Amino acid sequence: MAYLITVDGIVQGVGFRPFVYNLAKSLGLKGYVKNSTFGVIIHLECDENVLLRFLDELKKNAPKNSKILDLTIEKIDDQRCDDFFIEKSLQHEGITLIPADIATCNDCLRELFDPSNRRYLYPFINCTNCGPRYSIIKHIPYDRDKTTMASFKMCVECKTEYENVKNRRFHAQPNCCVRCGPDVYLDGLKGVDAIKYCAELVDRGEIVSIKGLGGYHLICDALNRDAIERLRSLKNRKFKPFAVMVKDFETVKRYFSDELREFFDSPEAPILIVDTVGFLPKSISPLNRKIGFIKAYTPLHQLLFYYLKTEFIIATSGNLKDEPIVIDEETAEEKLSRFTRYFLHHNRPIHNRVDDSVFTIFDNKPYPIRVSRGFAPIPMITRVFYKDSLFGAGAGLKSHFAMSKGKYIIISQYLGDLDNAETVDFYEETFIKIKNLFDVDIKKVITDLHPDYYSTIFAEKYAETNGIPVVKLQHHKAHLYSLMAENNITDNVIGVIFDGTGLGDDKAIWGGEIFYVKGEIKRRFHLKYVKQPGGDASAKTPYKMLLGYLVQFGFDEGVIKKVESVFGVQNEGEVIKNLIDKCINSPLTSSMGRLFEAVGALITNTKINEFEGHAAIALESIAKHRNVKPYRYRLDVNEIDISPLFEDLIGDYLNGLPVETISFKFHYTIANIILECCKIIRDETGLDTVLFSGGVFQNLLLLELSFKRLRSCGFKTISHRKLPPNDASIALGQVYFVGLME
Ligand code: ZN
Ligand code: ZN
Ligand code: FE
Repeated sequence: MAYLITVDGIVQGVGFRPFVYNLAKSLGLKGYVKNSTFGVIIHLECDENVLLRFLDELKKNAPKNSKILDLTIEKIDDQRCDDFFIEKSLQHEGITLIPADIATCNDCLRELFDPSNRRYLYPFINCTNCGPRYSIIKHIPYDRDKTTMASFKMCVECKTEYENVKNRRFHAQPNCCVRCGPDVYLDGLKGVDAIKYCAELVDRGEIVSIKGLGGYHLICDALNRDAIERLRSLKNRKFKPFAVMVKDFETVKRYFSDELREFFDSPEAPILIVDTVGFLPKSISPLNRKIGFIKAYTPLHQLLFYYLKTEFIIATSGNLKDEPIVIDEETAEEKLSRFTRYFLHHNRPIHNRVDDSVFTIFDNKPYPIRVSRGFAPIPMITRVFYKDSLFGAGAGLKSHFAMSKGKYIIISQYLGDLDNAETVDFYEETFIKIKNLFDVDIKKVITDLHPDYYSTIFAEKYAETNGIPVVKLQHHKAHLYSLMAENNITDNVIGVIFDGTGLGDDKAIWGGEIFYVKGEIKRRFHLKYVKQPGGDASAKTPYKMLLGYLVQFGFDEGVIKKVESVFGVQNEGEVIKNLIDKCINSPLTSSMGRLFEAVGALITNTKINEFEGHAAIALESIAKHRNVKPYRYRLDVNEIDISPLFEDLIGDYLNGLPVETISFKFHYTIANIILECCKIIRDETGLDTVLFSGGVFQNLLLLELSFKRLRSCGFKTISHRKLPPNDASIALGQVYFVGLME
């Protein structure tokens, strides 16, 4: 008897075939294993009992970095194989998933610091279980000559390892050593000397630019206040937190629960944001006590820590404000020279740029803020099979795009805010790369309703050139469907979508929306419209939005004058009233993001947003749990009227109630609003599963309060776990929604 097993998922470039080979050999089985565009195909000649044992071992001991997403078994005819072989790869229709970059494994770390090993202190050590993948892949199938390692010819020893199926480096495409592989250099020094010198510079308080896995970082000593200040002023960044790199988990374990160790130490090696108390300089994260830690995830970073005196370094993206992370030597010297004159370069080219991924913690589990290196390109299987491939262009900020093919939706790495030429180039370039890598024949594009998003313009142009249809999906509906996609849900949910900006079906700016899906999607509640003076610009100036609310809610001049004086301005209330009265550049909005920022502006005295959601984050971070009565609000058919909330809140503020309490009361009130709206929807529809998406739900206090209140009333609550709640998830929602409709 014989069986054909097809294993689909991330099974190429992660040591899957040699693992299958060794497993089959150890069980004395005959047959073969090969890669194909349907996944790894295993032909086994055995009876059912042995098959079950094989499958059991396969699932239990699969290589650490493989991900089995789908497995099918078929009974077939015996081919009378006389041994077990690894066969040549097949090229067919179908899809080959591309492995993400993998943090250095423990075996390689051991060898890196073993003086008797031939790769002792070699900064590019890697094996089948670790090393660069997506960042160096130019074409598929994933073979050395199709990566940026092509120009490095393996020496005899490396080649022998590469060809030996029993070796940990069997078909490890980036395999190399000090004799045949890439090297690092700094100021005329090479190899270990360059790394030693780099460590010296950092310990001396210098900022150094260093080329890593997915791009350049700027690094400096995280215990050196002067260095941090210098980096802040050079980056023109007063508040946005910096990530801190450490050698390993041991250095930071006091900040983590044991459950989170695994994630911190994972092959994906993300930045993980945790609560910290004191110790590290406040200037690393001026707005709160949270710090994003990341482990030294490449051998180069490991070696750096080997020579460094400090145990903590700032590791921030090497880029100019809002531009993509720099990946090549020349651009680094050109763009990053304003930050430093020291560059630790290396000569292994980066083909696909990937930023570090960022997660925070919600409910003691990782909660995504940015998903890129270690995950991208991100494959997702939902219940939808895509006969025709779709392209979801995403939104404008924190953009990603998505393409579907067969049973997969593939989501790009993080691409950034599409408001400058460099990011736009990055988007276009990645579009071509991913389309080619996965060989996607796009038959339909989906865009946001917003005509000015670069993603919309690009996708429409692509559709026109190729004569294919364009579908438009409202922004917040896309948010909801992205979370449904993550959870493979097709119907029957309530969606609380709180967000900064998204063009609505009625041309207003939406963002405080509560939907439900029962057969079709219905917008059941939204924040009552107010005018947003200055339009999109008010996302940068939350104090103007605040004055806008006060003017529209009829606060008297005395109050407005007092608020103006908080921000050191005069007569701006008057100007804003004029704009609003005359309907000049003052679109209607139901944005919850703008509300949080306006309240944050007042309560934390944040006049200008340095980055997206800044004033809202400041507001969240000062809140202290108190026993409080919520502020008042009114539900009016389908509108949530917050003018009573403003009256109460301004009253508290003028009466000098501690800002920590006001902030908490505000959060608590919004959670109450969510609960009451969901109860009404449950009464009307019987639905009791509530999904939370939209950028506002990066606010963990709001999420926690809402979850608690809803769960105590018998609701089931679901938050993002795979993609961020912000606009990063829009593209996935676009593709999933249209797939479901077809
Ligand atoms: Zn390794
Ligand atoms: Zn070699
Ligand atoms: Fe959004």
